[in-house]
Amino acid sequence: MNDAVRTCIVVADDPAVSGLVEMTASAGGGPLAVVVGRRAVADAVAAAGVRQVLWCGDLDPATPVEAYAPAVARLVTSVSPRLVVGAATVTGRALLGAVAAACQAPVLSGVTSVELDADGAVLTQDCYGGISTRTLAVTGGPAVLAVDPGTAAVAGAPVEVERVAAEPLGGCRVTERRTRQRVAVDLRSARTVVGVGRGLKEKADLALVEELATTLGGELACSRPLAEGVAWLAKERYLGISGQQISPELYLAIGISGQLQHMVGVRGARVVVAVNSDQNAPVFGLCDYGVVGDLYRVVPALVTALRG
Ligand SMILES: Cc1cc2nc3c(=O)[nH]c(=O)nc-3n(C[C@H](O)[C@H](O)[C@H](O)COP(=O)(O)OP(=O)(O)OC[C@H]3O[C@@H](n4cnc5c(N)ncnc54)[C@H](O)[C@@H]3O)c2cc1C
Repeated sequence: MNDAVRTCIVVADDPAVSGLVEMTASAGGGPLAVVVGRRAVADAVAAAGVRQVLWCGDLDPATPVEAYAPAVARLVTSVSPRLVVGAATVTGRALLGAVAAACQAPVLSGVTSVELDADGAVLTQDCYGGISTRTLAVTGGPAVLAVDPGTAAVAGAPVEVERVAAEPLGGCRVTERRTRQRVAVDLRSARTVVGVGRGLKEKADLALVEELATTLGGELACSRPLAEGVAWLAKERYLGISGQQISPELYLAIGISGQLQHMVGVRGARVVVAVNSDQNAPVFGLCDYGVVGDLYRVVPALVTALRG
């Protein structure tokens, strides 16, 4: 097995691996999959276009997947692959981190394509939130990539699942699991979205912007500080590089400065309108229409005008 394995995927108890397999496709031959998770996950991965599955055995519910990271690193490094791909998720990154440390390689994310050549790997990577790309050459060790895992996929007849010995680290146990209450927000299918930022002075003033969103038949969204910072709105409502990415017909940015990390989330919008009291705010360089003014005056005036 050793001399023919060029690529590996590492899988942390989730059968969504189409994105991982796809990323290894240019190397040919199908990747070796190392799976830490339930047997059902190993079986699903076995039918996803891989050459073989190494399964670390049933998980003890009290043992976190991350405890298997050193064992996974040993399995991966034993076959000396040139490309290792895992999911850009909390557990996926933990496993990849151990693999990368064992190989003395960095973990790279945002990679959109990879080609293996005689010297190593040549990668294309998104940067600045996807508004540009760069090319990287990785030599001297495997390329270790954290990518979007994609979906669970069946690509053909299942291959062999081999149960391998893999001891988790001790000293870390799951003591409780709680389901988080999530807010159901469907910003991606909204035709109109009104986003609000730190230009808002108080939480109670959200009512102003909510009224505008309702009048337009749209959804309310925000910049990250309003969700992650002061928590005035649910995390599901913030837009940007680390939040939701949307493509509405109309996006209104109210009291939002227009930092790249936010605007990346709305670059699919057909029309962007900004309201900001600072005429030098970056958002005015990125919108189709801009109103320089105090949102506390402009927003009520817009609502009145829209209601005719
Ligand atoms: C790794 C990383 C990831 C990030 N990811 C995201 C992300 O996904 N999404 C995101 O949004 N941010 C993200 N950020 C944060 C981002 O860099 C900005 O800090 C954030 O977007 C700024 O939010 P804001 O525009 O609401 O606030 P500010 O930048 O403080 O802007 C507030 C604006 O309101 C205007 N204003 C003030 N008073 C009024 C008024 N009365 N009327 C009209 N306008 C007024 C001001 O002129 C100003 O332009 C990220 C940052 C990092 C480092």
